[in-house]
Amino acid sequence: MFDYIVVGAGLAGSVLAERIANQLNKKVLVVEKRFHIGGNCYDFRDSNGIIVHKYGPHLFHTSYKDVFDYLSNFTEWQIYHHKVLAFIDGKKVPIPFNFNSMDILFPKWFSEKLQQKLINNFNYGSKVSILELKKVGDQDLQFLYEFIYNKLFLNYTRKQWERRPEEIAPEVIARVPILIGRDDRYFQDIYQVIPKEGYTKIFERMLNHSNIKLLLNTDFREVFHIDLENRKIFFMGNEYKGKVIYTGMIDELFGFKFGFLPYRSLRFEFKSLEKEYFQEVATVNYPNEYDFTRITEFKHIHPVNSNKTTIAIEYPDRYTIGTIPYYPVFTLEAQSIYEKYKEFSYNFKNLILVGRLAEYKYYDMDDVIKRALEIFENEKS
Ligand code: FAD
Ligand code: UDP
Repeated sequence: MFDYIVVGAGLAGSVLAERIANQLNKKVLVVEKRFHIGGNCYDFRDSNGIIVHKYGPHLFHTSYKDVFDYLSNFTEWQIYHHKVLAFIDGKKVPIPFNFNSMDILFPKWFSEKLQQKLINNFNYGSKVSILELKKVGDQDLQFLYEFIYNKLFLNYTRKQWERRPEEIAPEVIARVPILIGRDDRYFQDIYQVIPKEGYTKIFERMLNHSNIKLLLNTDFREVFHIDLENRKIFFMGNEYKGKVIYTGMIDELFGFKFGFLPYRSLRFEFKSLEKEYFQEVATVNYPNEYDFTRITEFKHIHPVNSNKTTIAIEYPDRYTIGTIPYYPVFTLEAQSIYEKYKEFSYNFKNLILVGRLAEYKYYDMDDVIKRALEIFENEKS
């Protein structure tokens, strides 16, 4: 009856369901365990009339024109450049750490000396990971490296991952580089926009198609059975010969047969405040103080006239079965477990794994869309 069954109505699942239904004119069943579509991009308008991101701040940024063009089929955009400040030594400084941050934190003469040395070593406007900065054999830049490592990365990373920065893949902290210049924006991509009516509307438009059936509040294990020995997939008791696109946790799919993959979870405390604004920018990071990592004020992202404001205080949390696996934990050991699952998945000819959890990757939204569109191209041919 269904040519494809998609597990998960997040970005990966919804993009593929939409493409297959629209372009291939095939029947798709989408099975989603939450009560809503959109996965971690889900948002809603709260009682203050403010669009709130239920699973943490989501800012769309990409340099992939094809991804931007594709998503533009489902929404109008508002230009939005995300700004983040970090609370360091009692002051709020722009992140990525840049010349403006140095001017706030250091005496003028020293800040200028550091800036000159950075320009001598790196191109103006470039972004440099702190690990690259560490390699420069200069005493002042070594001081700068240690300062940024200790004041910005060490404690935030401990809170976020329960690990030191060296214990996770270097790409993770490289996501937040040092910027050689004065660009205070968190991202430097070509397209930086926010959907005018929020993300959920995009998903509604993607999935609103006569070829797509949506089953919410349903864990795939209620309708699927994976026969690990005979490498077959059963749907409602019968062997399923169509294709299954799976976007959930890869270890869960295979009954944890090679062990548990590590994930990190989060807890959000939402607060409605009787004031117009709470903070200067959308997100303020607190690397060193408190148990939470950051506070986001949604009015900065989706401007609205209101004398109230809504904030989300973000606490990293242990992942336990039943909580949300927000992030894969990128360690060498986890990678080797993941490789075993990936290898095993090749035994199932009608199974496609895509997305943050199924591919165990630190995908941003644009990466997931790009990946889903690539998979769709393979399906077409
Ligand atoms: P998900 O959104 O996780 O979707 C997977 C879906 O599968 C979920 O709906 C889940 O309920 C469902 N599912 C799982 N298991 C089962 C099951 N057993 N049965 C049925 N359904 C199941 N990206 C950016 O580009 N910009 C940002 O600013 C940004 N901020 C982020 C902030 C946070 C706190 C987090 C956690 C992520 C952020 N991201 C951001 C990344 C973005 O959320 C992901 O790239 C994107 O949501 C991944 O889509 P997905 O479909 O792979 O996964
Ligand atoms: N990070 C940090 N201090 C900060 C911001 C980020 O140490 O103020 C590190 C931390 O390890 C974090 C990683 O850089 O997990 C990636 O940060 P990003 O803001 O990209 O995280 P996300 O928005 O994906 O949670």
